[in-house]
Amino acid sequence: MIEPDGFIIHGAPVNSRESLRLRGRDEPCSTFQGGDMSNITPRTMGQQFGRRSWAEPWKIKMVEPLRMIGRPDRERALAEAGYNTFLLRSDDVYIDLLTDSGTSAMSDRQWAGMLLGDEAYAGSRNFYHLEEAVQTYYGYRYLTPTHQGRGAEHLISRALIKPGMYIPGNMYFTTTRLHQELAGGVFVDVIINEAHDPTNMHPFKGNIDLNKLADLIARVGADKIPYVSLAGTVNMAGGQPVSMANVRAVRELCDRHGIRIFLDATRMIENAFFIQEREEGYAATPIAAILKEFCSYTDGAWMSAKKDNLVNIGGWLAVNDSELFDTLRNMVVIYEGLHTYGGMAGRDMEALAIGIAESVEEDHVRSRVGQVRYLGELLTDWDIPIVQPVGGHAIFLDAKRFYPHIPQDQFPAQRLAAELYLDSGIRAMERGIASAGRDPETGDHRYPALELTRLTIPRRVYTQAHMDVVAESVKAIYDARTQTRGLKMTYEPQYLRFFQARFEPL
Ligand SMILES: *Cc1c(COP(=O)(O)O)cnc(C)c1O
Repeated sequence: MIEPDGFIIHGAPVNSRESLRLRGRDEPCSTFQGGDMSNITPRTMGQQFGRRSWAEPWKIKMVEPLRMIGRPDRERALAEAGYNTFLLRSDDVYIDLLTDSGTSAMSDRQWAGMLLGDEAYAGSRNFYHLEEAVQTYYGYRYLTPTHQGRGAEHLISRALIKPGMYIPGNMYFTTTRLHQELAGGVFVDVIINEAHDPTNMHPFKGNIDLNKLADLIARVGADKIPYVSLAGTVNMAGGQPVSMANVRAVRELCDRHGIRIFLDATRMIENAFFIQEREEGYAATPIAAILKEFCSYTDGAWMSAKKDNLVNIGGWLAVNDSELFDTLRNMVVIYEGLHTYGGMAGRDMEALAIGIAESVEEDHVRSRVGQVRYLGELLTDWDIPIVQPVGGHAIFLDAKRFYPHIPQDQFPAQRLAAELYLDSGIRAMERGIASAGRDPETGDHRYPALELTRLTIPRRVYTQAHMDVVAESVKAIYDARTQTRGLKMTYEPQYLRFFQARFEPL
C-alpha cells in the first residue's frame, strides 16, 4: 500500500512533488484507473499521459488582492496582538492559514445559486435541493439543516446522551466533546495508539482500536453507550483517516451490542480520498462511491459544511431512524430555526447543495489533498519536523523538535506561529500547551504529548506558488531556530485561553 519513502499514486497524479520528481527508479508506481498501467513507472508516467506537471483544476475569475505589510508594521501588529495569532486583524495577514473552516472559495455555480435563494420561512425550495444532495452523496434518509457543525452536535448530544453515559470516539474534537459533556456524558478516547506518535507512518492513524472499544463495552455495559462518535478524518491527530475495514469492524462489534454509530462527516470526503489511495480494493472506486459506502456503516452524521462542503457557513444533521428524526425535528425549532432552514438562509442552503456535489469531484479532492501534501513534501525535503503522514487539511509543524531548546512551558508552538508571522505575514495556529489549558484539579498547565503549530490550507483559495512562499518562510525561521527564545504568558483567560491569551518574548 505505502512505499517506505512515500505514497503510491492511484489515478492521475496529484500535485504531489512525488509525481513531478524523476526518481530514477523503475518499479511500477500504481494500479491506475482505466487500463493496464503495470508497466508505468514514475519516469514514464509523464510520457504516457503527455504531461507531467499538475495545475489547480480551476481558473481564477475574481481576485481578492493580498497585501503584505512591512516588517516594522508586522512587529507592531504582533506586539499589539500579544504574540497571539488569534488576535491579529486579518488585514495585517498576508497568507492566512489559521483554519480551513469557512475559508473556502465558492465556485461560480455556487455564487449563481446564491441568487436563487428562496427565503420562504417554510418549505424553501433550497431545502429540498439540500436534502436531495445529502441523500444522493451521503445516503442518509432524513435531514435537518443547522447553522454550523456545533449546532448539529448540540442536537444529537441532547437527543441521545443521558447523564452518566459514555461516548467512545477516535480522539476528541473540542466542540464535539464539549456538547457530549454538557449533555452529561463522558468522552472516552478509543483511537489506536499510533495516532499519538507524530512520526508513526501508519496509513490509517484515525482508526478505532477495537480492543479499547470492546473493553469499554465490557466495563460500562452497552446500555450506557448511546453511540460511537466516529470522525473521518481526525483533525486533532493531524487530519488522519479511518479505513473502510475499520468502520466495517466497528459496525460488526456495535451490531453485536446494539450500539449506534454516528459520524462526524466534517472531512469525510478527504478521508474517502485516502481510502481510494491506500486501501486494498478501492483504487478504482470513485470518491463519491467510497463516501457513500462508508456512511452506509453508520446510523447518521453531523456536518460542519464550512470544511469539506465548500461554503462559508452552514451545517447539517442527517439520520436514518425516523423516530430519532422526529425528536431532532422537534428540537431544531427550539435551538436553530424551522426544520426546513435550521438557521440557514435559503441562498446558503442552495450554495451548500451545489458545494456538496462539487466537493466529491475527483479532481477537486485530489488537488485539495495534493496541495497539502505538496507543502508537506517541500518541508520534509528540508528535514523540517512535521507530523507524518501528512493528513488531508493541514501541515502540523512539530514544535518540540523544531525548538528542542525551548521548554514546553515557554510555549514553543506559540512562538513558532509568532516567528512565522514576523518573517512573512503568514498566520498559523498553536495546537500545544496553550490550547491544552490547565488541569482543573492541580491548576498546573496540561503538558500535551503533541506541541504543534498548524498550517491549515483553505480549499481553492491559494495556489502552489503560495505554498512555495510558505515553505520558504518556514525554512527561514528553521535556519534561525537556535537564536529563538520562548514566550511568557502575560494574560490568561479562564476558559479556552488560547483564543485570547497574551504573551511577551523572553
Ligand atoms: C469544525 C469542526 C466541528 C464544528 O463545526 P463548526 O461548524 O465549527 O461549528 C466539528 N467537528 C470537526 C472535526 C470540526 O473540524
